[in-house]
Amino acid sequence: MAKTPTSWRKRKRSSIYGTSVWKKLRAAKLGRDPVCQICERRNRAVIATTVDHITPLSKGGAPYPPLDQLFSLCTRCHQLKTARDHPRHSTDTKAAFAGSDIHGNPLDPFHEWNA
Ligand SMILES: [Zn+2]
Repeated sequence: MAKTPTSWRKRKRSSIYGTSVWKKLRAAKLGRDPVCQICERRNRAVIATTVDHITPLSKGGAPYPPLDQLFSLCTRCHQLKTARDHPRHSTDTKAAFAGSDIHGNPLDPFHEWNA
């Protein structure tokens, strides 16, 4: 990629997902990490269909970050993450991410990364 336009900084978060830059980034991410990175922590291999930001744009995350700052998610995990961003649904997502994985780490990846 050559120059990164600066005008996106003033746009609303939903607008970046329609850009060619995002589509390329999304394709690159799914190419590198084709398995859902949350299900992977639970020792399950689920094909990822969605790419999301680890640091939400609303919290200062870059719209087009490096691939390691993006999440490959399956449809279900993406829905859970979206629900988590809206506190009224937090009961469901807390239950979904409760507990620990086989290494004893918390299953909830957003807990540490969004802190
Ligand atoms: Zn998943």
